Amino acid sequence: MKKNRHDKQILLFLITIILPSLGLIFLTVRMVMQDRELADRRATDARHLIARQIGDQLLARLENIKQQAAEAFIDGNMPKNDHSSFHPDIEFVCPIQGLKPILPWEQNREKGKTAYPFQDPGLQSRLQQGEKEEFVRKNYTRAYQLYHTLLIQSRSVLKKNTLYLMMARTLIKSSQHEKALIYYKKVLNQPFIVVDENGIPLALYAARQIQELQKAGMHVVNTFYSGLPYLDGLSLSAVFMMREILDAMMVSPPDTVSRYRLQHCRERVYQQIRKKEQLIALQKDYSTLGLSSYHKKQSELKNQSWVLYGEEPWLMSTFIISSVNAPFLIGISVEKFLDVLRDDQTYASELPVDFQFVDESNQKGFNLGPNFQRIKIVYGENEQYFLDEWKIHPAFYMLALILILGITLFGSYLLWRDMRREVQLADMRSQFVSSVSHELKTPLTSIRMFAETMRMNRLKDKKMKTEFLDTIVNESQRLTRLLNNVLDFSRIEKGKRIYRFQRASLYMIIESACQAMVYPFNQQGFKLHVQTEEKLPEVYADSDAIEQAILNLLHNGMKYSGESKEIQLILKRDNHKVFIQVIDHGIGISFKDQKHIFKQFYRVPSADNERIAGTGLGLALVKHIVEAHKGALTVESSPGKGSTFTIALPLEES
Ligand code: ADP
Repeated sequence: MKKNRHDKQILLFLITIILPSLGLIFLTVRMVMQDRELADRRATDARHLIARQIGDQLLARLENIKQQAAEAFIDGNMPKNDHSSFHPDIEFVCPIQGLKPILPWEQNREKGKTAYPFQDPGLQSRLQQGEKEEFVRKNYTRAYQLYHTLLIQSRSVLKKNTLYLMMARTLIKSSQHEKALIYYKKVLNQPFIVVDENGIPLALYAARQIQELQKAGMHVVNTFYSGLPYLDGLSLSAVFMMREILDAMMVSPPDTVSRYRLQHCRERVYQQIRKKEQLIALQKDYSTLGLSSYHKKQSELKNQSWVLYGEEPWLMSTFIISSVNAPFLIGISVEKFLDVLRDDQTYASELPVDFQFVDESNQKGFNLGPNFQRIKIVYGENEQYFLDEWKIHPAFYMLALILILGITLFGSYLLWRDMRREVQLADMRSQFVSSVSHELKTPLTSIRMFAETMRMNRLKDKKMKTEFLDTIVNESQRLTRLLNNVLDFSRIEKGKRIYRFQRASLYMIIESACQAMVYPFNQQGFKLHVQTEEKLPEVYADSDAIEQAILNLLHNGMKYSGESKEIQLILKRDNHKVFIQVIDHGIGISFKDQKHIFKQFYRVPSADNERIAGTGLGLALVKHIVEAHKGALTVESSPGKGSTFTIALPLEES
């Protein structure tokens, strides 16, 4: 029955507190998730928008570079053989012929710069004579002489140096290495613009020979170093040749100064090889890149499409030199371009976002706008720029949720505790009513029974009559004590219990209590052992209240003594305190129950106790009385062995 009610209470508690809390958690989590989704969407929108903004800014810059490049052309020709007059970010500018970009080294050939120098039939036949002596007859001296005569008649640098190389070749064949070296060194001094019909600088042939004859040194390094600005215009085979010579030189490098240059040249040459290979690939892929659309619409002079291409990526676009109506392809190094961009303070403050260009196949990339094809951008790891907005919200919601839940749970705990107390108190009260009725009934029944017997005048024996009368008096005393307890308790509850403190002798109080207990003890065969210190100073106390407390303890001793019939009452002193102890050897109290027995209405819930009449008020009253005297009430007890209740009162000696 009682358990059922508790279950109901718990259920009610769950329904009223836990369920709404769970609902609240669910709603908050959902809200946070929705908020997050929304914020995510907003962040994605922002990313799109910023990608467009970046696109616009880039386009402006790229178009500017393109414009500068276009202006560098005067009549549709390259401004110079090298690209030094272009913007530093520019990798290449190539004219386009028939849907095909003409690569920088091919342009030279186009312009006839790499034509065979001995076109003239007169010269050609004499050269052939020399070659016949050299290669067929193996008459190297004669061949040398023929080449030499030709040299004397030649004016152009290219012809002269070509002949030097031939003469040196014949000298080597006739084992005149020293003399050959002189010629090779002459050719080595020629700048890289002096190239043969294959676009290979003559200096390179000389360098290779020098390397073979005596190991190339500082001169070769310096020649290569000063040739670096011309690398773009050299054919791939020329650059391969350079790599070969440089690699051979690396085996035993020359002195330190040149070693740095050597290293630098090698890096540049390797870089150039990658570039040229990428250019060759581009030439093949060009028609598939979608940049050629303007060819169909010749009128469309301003083509603003930019395309990403290559492993070391280039941004590429086309433009038309209006004076000659010739299309050109321009390539800009993404790396260089972005480096410059990142150093630009105004740009960095406008768009504080870390980004990279990626191929359009990248799923995480964002479009830069209609003018960029095959390019997307991805933002760097640190996307704080977009995240701020939604990072605050979940934390805020969670905090609020924790706070609300905390308060709710704490409040419900307090409520639950209160409720439990109320329920316990209500239980105890109802038990109290039945206990009091029971306690009243027993003495009343015996009083009535004895009184009626006496009224019938059946008792002839005087001794028996006295005994009957004693019982009636004792029972009515028991009634009085019970009612006193109840009345006192109600006064205490109302805060109206008044103590009348006076000088009193504890010894006398104990005497009086013992006197009151003589009859009940005798009747039930109890033996009371009193042990007192007579010479105790008086205390300042309410004698009646203290006596009531002692009587309550003695009665309890009697009620809960089980088989034992011995009770001790001790009055002793220790320094500034007096102790009144009531010791029984009865049923005892478990440690767990010892904490509760001083509470009002509390009765140890055991089968033994059910049979013993009681209200659960006795000890609560004792405690109140003792505390009103600034004393302390303690219990020492173990089940089955008995209990010792001790009242400690302060002693005020005058
Ligand atoms: P009651 O009217 O039930 O005796 P009390 O307040 O005097 O009320 O005591 C509270 C409870 O403490 C008792 O119900 C009993 O279980 C336990 N108790 C009190 N005194 C003793 C004792 N001397 N020995 C064993 N149990 C005791």
